[in-house]
Amino acid sequence: MSPKGHGEADWLPFPEALARVLERTPPLGSEAVPLAAARGRALAADVVSGVDQPPWDVSAMDGFAVRAGDVEGASEDAPVRLPVSGDVPAGAFPEGPLEPGAAVRVMTGAPVPEGATGVVRVEHTDGGDGGMVTFRSDEDARGNVRPAGEDLRRGRTVLTRGLEVTPAVVGVLATVGRREVEVGRIPRVGILATGDELARPDAFDEVLAGRKIADSNGPALAAAVAGAGAEPVPLGLARDEREDVRRRLERGAECDALVTTAGVSVGDRDLVREVLEDLGLEEVFWRVRIRPGSPFAFGLLPSARPVFALPGNPVSALVTFEVLVRPALRRMAGHARLERRRVPVELAEEVRGKADLTHFNRVRLEGRPGRPPLARLTGPQGSGILTSVAAADALLVVPEGTERLAAGAAAEAIPLDAWGPRPASGDA
Ligand code: AMP
Ligand code: MG
Repeated sequence: MSPKGHGEADWLPFPEALARVLERTPPLGSEAVPLAAARGRALAADVVSGVDQPPWDVSAMDGFAVRAGDVEGASEDAPVRLPVSGDVPAGAFPEGPLEPGAAVRVMTGAPVPEGATGVVRVEHTDGGDGGMVTFRSDEDARGNVRPAGEDLRRGRTVLTRGLEVTPAVVGVLATVGRREVEVGRIPRVGILATGDELARPDAFDEVLAGRKIADSNGPALAAAVAGAGAEPVPLGLARDEREDVRRRLERGAECDALVTTAGVSVGDRDLVREVLEDLGLEEVFWRVRIRPGSPFAFGLLPSARPVFALPGNPVSALVTFEVLVRPALRRMAGHARLERRRVPVELAEEVRGKADLTHFNRVRLEGRPGRPPLARLTGPQGSGILTSVAAADALLVVPEGTERLAAGAAAEAIPLDAWGPRPASGDA
């Protein structure tokens, strides 16, 4: 039995449920990986630059380095001619400072000689010929020089711990000479579907014969776990029998977290919670004031391994995963940003809810220039209607305390478009 006794629901408001989950799901630790495998992972430590970037004042254009005073007033009608005293291709260095009254040819990315105030782009010259160059504009006389250290400075923290490794972060790491990077460890997440009415994919003839329904939660949650940047470990499909559930959960002993579906509703046999208690579960809470997905349980198995017991209804399983499990897996993986950035939307139609629940309605978003996107329900919102999630761009949040949002009202939505990064292996 749970400490609070079976049947006694906590009924936590959504924000409190999420806070309790995050309190108990600390980062797992870290490992070094090659840059090429780091995308989507979280930096486990701040990165301090050991270099200035650019290392010197470099030219942003192909052209001629000048002292502004030497080309002042140059125009089509009053061109200025100067001798070319040097040539600096990318990868080469100037031989010395720029002499007054002369110009030095420089290429993009090449160091600009000392004393130059700017680089006149080649298009504003005759290109230089016979040791001389003609300037037809002085527009760039003080431009086109990227000062040393404008991007990175030696000794400065250039990336902070918890940041997700994006292509740009990979670029910064490469700039400072990293070939490997310390990132948060990827949580391995055991996924168990339960239910006598369910058939595995290889038993689809049972579905065709009208005796079973397909297990959609197992595959959908494996995809959601992978999309959250974690590693799914399928534990199969358990019958509604204690022994079967227990045996399969024990197979997940090596996992960092467990996700189960079904068997946690009121009036159910509470099979999953019973077995978890047999395995030593410390239940942190059961039931949350959300729709869909209120019969959600969260607890810790011995060695502080988190267990998320999701409802069986396919919509409830995916929605509770999105709002309560995904942030926890990201925290375990070391990410600083746990939740997706919510977007302001305007409702295309009236949406009703129960005042004591936070609702997550499935919506499509229609972008409109200069105004928040218009959010339209994806049809009936029953928790068995999985296609309402498949068709959705976002979850519309109707917070607790709100019974009705009129058409045209402002609200917030959680965009689902990417469902997070793909794992580096791409095979999950
Ligand atoms: P339960 O939580 O066991 O009361 O299940 C609630 C509803 O979700 C029932 O209609 C189940 O048939 C359905 N369900 C439970 N598990 C799954 C699953 N893995 N895949 C698809 N539907 C499921
Ligand atoms: Mg069931």
